[in-house]
Amino acid sequence: MEETWDREVICEICRVQLSRAAIAKSLTGLDLSVLEQPKRLININLAVRMDNGKVRFFPAYRVLYNDARGPGKGGIRFHPNVHMEEIKELAFLMALKCACTDIPFGGAKGGVKVDPKKHSEHEMERISRAYIREFAHFIGPDTDIPAPDVNTNSTTMAWMLNEYEKIVGHSAPAVITGKPLELGGSQGRDYSTSLGGAIVLREYLAKKKSGLKKASIAVQGFGNVGMHMARILFEWGAKIVAVSDSSTGIFDSGGINVKKAIEHKATGKSFETFPKGKKISNEELLELKVDVLIPAAVEDQVNDSNKDNIQAKTILEMANGPVTPTADDLLDRKGVEIIPDILANSGGVMVSYFEWVQNRNGKYWEEKEVNAMLEEKMVKAFNEVHALKEEEKINYRKAAYVLAIKRILKAEELRGNLSKPSK
Ligand code: NAD
Repeated sequence: MEETWDREVICEICRVQLSRAAIAKSLTGLDLSVLEQPKRLININLAVRMDNGKVRFFPAYRVLYNDARGPGKGGIRFHPNVHMEEIKELAFLMALKCACTDIPFGGAKGGVKVDPKKHSEHEMERISRAYIREFAHFIGPDTDIPAPDVNTNSTTMAWMLNEYEKIVGHSAPAVITGKPLELGGSQGRDYSTSLGGAIVLREYLAKKKSGLKKASIAVQGFGNVGMHMARILFEWGAKIVAVSDSSTGIFDSGGINVKKAIEHKATGKSFETFPKGKKISNEELLELKVDVLIPAAVEDQVNDSNKDNIQAKTILEMANGPVTPTADDLLDRKGVEIIPDILANSGGVMVSYFEWVQNRNGKYWEEKEVNAMLEEKMVKAFNEVHALKEEEKINYRKAAYVLAIKRILKAEELRGNLSKPSK
C-alpha cells in the first residue's frame, strides 16, 4: 500500500487504543486505518506584540482528527506544555466522544503553547485574537467548531468570536461554543458535564438494582465538574462521603453536607479549614472503600502507584483520562467497573451541540428544555453502550470505544473512504 503519511503523523496512542478495541466481535475484519491518523494538522507560530512593545512567537495548533460524521468539535487549550502529539490524541478522543453519544460532530482540538500566568489579560486577548486570525480559514460553523478547554473560558470565546466575525464580515455565533449567554451561549452549559455524568451514574446504578440513594460516593476535585457533580448527586439523595480540592480532602462516613462545602469554598478557603469530617489527602480519597469513586480533577490519578489499593466498586471518569491503561487493565481483572470519560463526561459537548443548534436556528431554549434534552440523550447513550457491553461481553470502556468506532467507520464507508474486504 502506498505510504502517504510520515510515521510521526500517525498517533501512537490512538493506534494502541484502536488495537485494544479491535478485538471486539463487531470490529473484526474491519479496516481501522482511516482512524490511525488525523485528517488535518496545522501548526502556526503566532506573532503577538507584548505589553512592552516586543513581539513574541507562540506555537499554536489545530487538529481535525475526523469529520466523517460532521464538522470537527473540540476545545482550545492554553498551556506551557501543549504539543502536537497531545492535541492529536485529544482530537481523536473528541471524535470518539461525539460518535459514542451520537452527536453529529467529528473530533478536533487546538492549543497554544503559552503560560497564561505569565501574561497580562491584554496579552492573553491578543494571543486569542491572533489564534483566530491565523486559523480562521480552517474553522467555521460547518467545518470545525472550537470551545473552551484548559485555561480558556467564555471570555476567551467572546474575543475569538468577535475576531472571527470581523474577518468573515457577518454574525457567526455557531463558529464557537462555550460563549457567554449574551453572545449566544446556552443555558445550563456551566453544569452540563456534571449533570450528564450524574444521569449516566443514576442509570448505571438502576441497572445494578442498587440506586443512587444507597450509594456511598467520593469525588476528587472541586472545580467546575467536581463541585457540580457533588452538588447534583447530593441533591438527588446520594451519600457523598468524601470531596477534595488540590490540597486537601474531607471524609465523613455519615455523609458530607455538600451545600455547606460549596459555601465554604465560595469564601475562598481550602477544605483544610472545613469544620466537619476528617482531613484526608487526595491519595487517601482515591483509595477509600466506596461504592463509586469519581475522579473529576486531572488525568492519570489512578495509576501504577495506587492501582493495587483502589477499593471502589465503580469508577465514573469525569476527568479526561483519570485512569491509566495499565491501572485500567488491573482493575478490570479485579472486577471494578469503569464508566469511561468519553461517555461519562460527554454532557458538556452535548450541550455545546445544543448551543450550536440554537445559534443556527436563532431560537433559544429555556434551561429546563436544555436539561430535558440532555437527560434524553444521555439515557440513550448509556443504554446503547450498556447493550453493546452485554451483547459482546466486554467492559464499558471497550463498549463505548467499539460503538464510537463502528459509527465513524460506517460514515467513512458510506463516503467511500474504506477499503473493501478482499473476496
Ligand atoms: P477545574 O480547573 O475547574 O477544576 C479542577 C479541580 O481539580 C480543582 O478543584 C483543582 O483544585 C483540582 N485539582 C487540580 N489538581 C489536582 C490534583 N493533582 N489532585 C486533586 N485535585 C486537583 O476543571 P474542570 O473544568 O472541573 O475539569 C476537571 C476535569 O474534567 C478535567 O480533566 C477536564 O478535562 C474534564 N472535563 C471538563 C469538562 C467541562 O465541561 N469543564 C468537560 C469534559 C471533561
